[in-house]
Amino acid sequence: MASMDGQAPVGAQARPGGTGDIGTPKRTKDIVAKYGFSFKKSLGQNFLIDGNILSRIVDAAELSSDSGALEIGPGIGALTQRLAEKAGKVTAIEIDQRLIPILGDLMADKPHVGIVHGDVLKLDLAKLFEERFEGCSGVSVVANLPYYVTTPILMKLLEEKLPLKHIVVMIQKEVAERMAAKPGGKEYGSLSVAVQYYCEPKLVCTVPHTVFIPQPNVDSAVIKLSVREKPAVEVEDEAHFFRVVQASFAQRRKTLMNNLTAFVGKERREELTAMLNRIGIDPSRRGETLSLEEFALLSKSMLAEGWRG
Ligand code: SAM
Repeated sequence: MASMDGQAPVGAQARPGGTGDIGTPKRTKDIVAKYGFSFKKSLGQNFLIDGNILSRIVDAAELSSDSGALEIGPGIGALTQRLAEKAGKVTAIEIDQRLIPILGDLMADKPHVGIVHGDVLKLDLAKLFEERFEGCSGVSVVANLPYYVTTPILMKLLEEKLPLKHIVVMIQKEVAERMAAKPGGKEYGSLSVAVQYYCEPKLVCTVPHTVFIPQPNVDSAVIKLSVREKPAVEVEDEAHFFRVVQASFAQRRKTLMNNLTAFVGKERREELTAMLNRIGIDPSRRGETLSLEEFALLSKSMLAEGWRG
């Protein structure tokens, strides 16, 4: 394992934590018992114990010996170990200090694996990419994410425009379905638009709660987000585009007209109706029926009217 400064630790030796797959029920229980580790629900600690699911995740990431893999929340390293078999450089960010020495032991024979102690939401990821993934042909995020912060983590990865190839993550099934939803359905919302603006989503598989220790009380799914070279639609002002999207979904039962009236002000209602008709969007439609292209057109036309929100 490479230490925080990127150097292989002195005296690294073969698997002091024992050999074999970490992601099995027995090995995970043994490691937890050996180190006296207790799970923290507040940190979303549900460790994977199924080799097939681990393979599905790693295969979906299409890693090769010249690629980099960023893992968020390695736990005791079930997925880290698999990533290390495929990727040239692996960096795993773990918030729980108690897991750092355990990972240190279990990854000691892997000089291309680095463990960073920290909160992914607070770290300077652009800097970390420069320090950790120099020379990699592409970097992908591969993780079994802590469910309590899935959306903030993904939005940080996308909004910071990190040079990412794929994001393959295990998340709550319902959130995965919202990310991949197409216009017209009840799952389609501002999260679908935001994710699809930056990426092409694909559901890889759904996952039963029996493959974790401890078992979460929600269903899970693996989603693959292939990051687009440029966003799906061209917009003049991204922040404005997302404000318009948020406003359009503000109250799902309301029409676009009513939701957008709150955005532009009541006194502009007639102008808003005229503008929507002019750009071919029926004011009585609901936000959930608009495609990304229509949201882009809407944002552009609202900017032209000076409606900045
Ligand atoms: N990757 C392991 C596996 O699949 O068995 C563990 C996954 S567990 C669902 C999520 C992990 O994320 C935990 O180890 C937890 O401590 C860590 N975590 C939670 N919040 C975090 C944060 N803000 N930054 C980094 N790691 C975090």
